[in-house]
Amino acid sequence: MTANLLDYDLEGLAVFCDRLGEKRFRATQLFRWIHQKGASNFDEMSDLAKSLREKLKSGASIRGMPVISQHISGDGTIKWLFDVGGGDAVETVFIPEEGRGTLCVSSQAGCAVGCRFCSTGHQGFSRNLTVAEIVGQLWFAERFLRDHLHSPDRVISNVVMMGMGEPLQNYGSLVPALRVMLDDHGYGLSRRRVTVSTSGVVPMIDRLGHDCPVALAVSLHAPNDILRNNLVPLNRKYPIAELLEACHRYLKFAPRDFITFEYCMLDGVNDSVDHAHELVRLVRQAGDGAWCKFNLIPFNPFPASGLVRSNAGAVLNFAKTLSDAGIVTTVRKTRGDDIDAACGQLAGDVQDRTAVYKRIVLQRGIDLHKGSSGLKTRSKDVVNG
Ligand code: SAH
Ligand code: SF4
Repeated sequence: MTANLLDYDLEGLAVFCDRLGEKRFRATQLFRWIHQKGASNFDEMSDLAKSLREKLKSGASIRGMPVISQHISGDGTIKWLFDVGGGDAVETVFIPEEGRGTLCVSSQAGCAVGCRFCSTGHQGFSRNLTVAEIVGQLWFAERFLRDHLHSPDRVISNVVMMGMGEPLQNYGSLVPALRVMLDDHGYGLSRRRVTVSTSGVVPMIDRLGHDCPVALAVSLHAPNDILRNNLVPLNRKYPIAELLEACHRYLKFAPRDFITFEYCMLDGVNDSVDHAHELVRLVRQAGDGAWCKFNLIPFNPFPASGLVRSNAGAVLNFAKTLSDAGIVTTVRKTRGDDIDAACGQLAGDVQDRTAVYKRIVLQRGIDLHKGSSGLKTRSKDVVNG
């Protein structure tokens, strides 16, 4: 198969062009066509010499991923399910807000961390996405949205790596993909508007700080190790104290002067006022002043979790306790509820679809394990299939 140019950051594309005997500025032109104009066809690239276009046509392509489905919510949220081959699918969500458009991007098919409250975690790990598959989500969405909204200007102003997967466990693809997002010749997004969300892969937080510091969100979810071990199994490897130290080291490189902590509100598990006080103590021990913010996420339930969303009163009391202690706290609005596009519902939906695809495939008598004609089945999916 020919090289997919969505796989390259500008440096990589320069090397690719060099191999074709082309100068660096050609790589820049090509990069701008792909990412600024959303081109997928070399013939569109009118300022490239015909000889170069012919060379490109024979040795390269710009290949997005097939869209399995697209849902547009009443509130403008759009969710796509992309086929990444081999029976795997990932989701991408666009969230329009006053003055900005945020794209929530996936980094892996499935996730190995296995958080209790996350349906991607329950699904298990399938594989890392390539650079082209991460960038391809943005490339596709921006192209679609400009057309859909009749916008001559850029629609996506923010990217959050908060879709399926743990981005810091796919570091090799993450960093070039971030570079494409940040590059002035690419999407030109500011470092403050690109957020990597992590469950706390401590050594990789340090590497990100050196290689490509963007805004950092850390999924904390608990004020102590006993509870966090239970909710986020990675905590057994990188406990809270080490995680908070890594956050502090990151602040020296970060484009913002705070870290955002995400905290999924689970009824009767981590949502009491005592938990909030414990968090306040934790944050104060770890550093002076306003070095972090909290984003409380009402849990989006899915049946296999056995967990329940905190009631609104508990969320308010929790938020008030943090705010009264001087910690900036927001409660995340749930968006795209009517299309199951809220946090942690993504994979659940993929699983539902998996069941549907599997039924179709089984009816047709195709062996899923031999071909890529249907979405992959895992033992967990079989239960309700
Ligand atoms: N793996 C990374 C990024 C993807 S998850 C991480 O864990 O940070 C993005 C956010 O969605 C995380 O804060 C995660 O804790 C949250 N999340 C996962 N499942 C959820 C659910 N069912 N309800 C609410 N938030 C959820
Ligand atoms: Fe993976 Fe994040 Fe889900 Fe945890 S919350 S299982 S790290 S995607």
